[in-house]
Amino acid sequence: MISFYSYLLLFFFFTVGLVIGSFLNCLIYRTKVGKSFFKGRSYCPKCKHFLSWFDLIPVLSYLQLAGKCRYCREPISRQYLLVELAVGILFAASAAIMEPSIVFFASFSLFNLFSLFYYWFIISVLAVIFVYDFLYYIIPDEAVFLAILATAGFHASRFFYEFFLTSNANFELMINPLLASVFAFSFFLTVFLVSAGKWMGFGDVKYAALMGLVLGFPDIAVGLFLSFFLGAIIGLSMIALKRKEISSEIPFGPFLVSGTIAAMFFGKDIIFIYLGI
Ligand SMILES: [Zn+2]
Repeated sequence: MISFYSYLLLFFFFTVGLVIGSFLNCLIYRTKVGKSFFKGRSYCPKCKHFLSWFDLIPVLSYLQLAGKCRYCREPISRQYLLVELAVGILFAASAAIMEPSIVFFASFSLFNLFSLFYYWFIISVLAVIFVYDFLYYIIPDEAVFLAILATAGFHASRFFYEFFLTSNANFELMINPLLASVFAFSFFLTVFLVSAGKWMGFGDVKYAALMGLVLGFPDIAVGLFLSFFLGAIIGLSMIALKRKEISSEIPFGPFLVSGTIAAMFFGKDIIFIYLGI
């Protein structure tokens, strides 16, 4: 039974995600055009009119303006709305799926809350990587590096938290993700070298190290399988629909990010279903 408290909390997490999504849109746009992220107000990229606070309310401003700039009536890219909604949904879903004690039982430790913030951080970085690779065919090094640092920090904190709680030094908590990271990185590096960079870029190879570190074993296997499966299906349908030529480049990052998030949320369930347990 889901209580009113749970619904309220999920809605609140969804709203936090909308606001962070809006912030990430701004981050992506400003890093791409080389503007300082912290200085200057947001403006319409077409007519350069400064935007008021009421133009910047996630989702609602877009709906109220029917997707057009208030000042020049030029259409606003649907990307902004989609990123906000996706991050909102993922924030609420990550809480419900990965930290259910917070959402459904209101009985949680500070470490549950800390884990949730870590998941939100990773989801935010992955959203940036998804959009960046989709639009510009680049996986930004800074994003991957920052996420690797945060994830290493998260695994180390989990180790020490468990150690202080049980006096049991469970090194597997740190070694497992490290090995998964080395495994995924080596696998992608091999594909990269064998294909001389034709099947994937070096950005994907670096991303694989992050993916392994986030997921660990056995989830990394699920994540990689889903990424390749999704990439094959969508790649082949685009070629069939003549949207892309076989030779043209389809960025792999969005598939890797989708596979990572799906495995983060459902990795264990997928393995149990697969093994028929
Ligand atoms: Zn405008």
